[in-house]
Amino acid sequence: MIIWGSKLRIFTESNGNFYCPECNDYKNYELKNVKKYFNFLFILQFEVGDLGNYIECSECNSTFKEDVLKFDPKADNLKIRGLYFSAARDIMISIAMADGKIGDNEFERIINSFEKITQIKLGKEDLLDAIRNLKIREHSLSEITEEIAPYLNDQGKETVLRAAIAISKADGAIQEEELNLLHSLSGDLLLPKAYANGVFIEEEISPK
Ligand SMILES: [Zn+2]
Repeated sequence: MIIWGSKLRIFTESNGNFYCPECNDYKNYELKNVKKYFNFLFILQFEVGDLGNYIECSECNSTFKEDVLKFDPKADNLKIRGLYFSAARDIMISIAMADGKIGDNEFERIINSFEKITQIKLGKEDLLDAIRNLKIREHSLSEITEEIAPYLNDQGKETVLRAAIAISKADGAIQEEELNLLHSLSGDLLLPKAYANGVFIEEEISPK
């Protein structure tokens, strides 16, 4: 006969919806807490330790650390999409401002190029706001680009570079300061040099 011992008891503390990495989908979960109890003669029972929490998927019963609740690929994708859209827009504005002002042609070209790469029509007021914000924040082209580069694959980087080139061409020939900006843009995008030069040559621009 066992007169004393300890056992674990599991309590469900809360539940909700989460992205289960095992199911690869959004499923319900239960947040479980494990406590250790000391038993004596079946009459006395007291808690001797809190062993912590874990998350259990209600679908596949896989268990995870609580951190799993922070993992939300849909929200992360949206965030990255938003970051990409604003970075692409701000990169085009920075290139257009290389000569100190944004001409009507450049303004129109930003709207067109933005729509081409995002399928979203940028309103004139929104663009004016973005230009004002960019002037206030004084973020350099490099800072804007470095923020987005890690999230883009080579094709995404090429798209941004080509959009910037389209803006540089909007006011006629590409000026030297625009050329320098385009070259440093391709560097900040971490686009392989040979790849970037392929794009420059195709666009009839001197390679790096
Ligand atoms: Zn699951």
